[in-house]
Amino acid sequence: MTYVIAEPCINTKDTACVDVCPVDCIHPTKNEPDFEKETKLYIDPDECIDCGACEPVCPVEAIFEEAATPDKWKNFIQVDADWYKNRKK
Ligand code: SF4
Repeated sequence: MTYVIAEPCINTKDTACVDVCPVDCIHPTKNEPDFEKETKLYIDPDECIDCGACEPVCPVEAIFEEAATPDKWKNFIQVDADWYKNRKK
């Protein structure tokens, strides 16, 4: 299980979630070089501990527990996972 960042994050990138995540598994952060070019933030499914801290602080309600992700945004489960797969290459 993991949490997922869905479509409302696109072009929002508020980063309140980054500040509350206890295991720093939400990237890119504002200090990372890829922050500007990315359109959204991503949760690393391998690192997320399912604490739920990020979900209520998102101002655009973009974050969902994986199983609770609305059907129209379920593709973001793969989007987030793939982003880390590519990043770690
Ligand atoms: Fe980080 Fe917790 Fe959100 Fe997972 S659920 S991304 S560990 S704040």
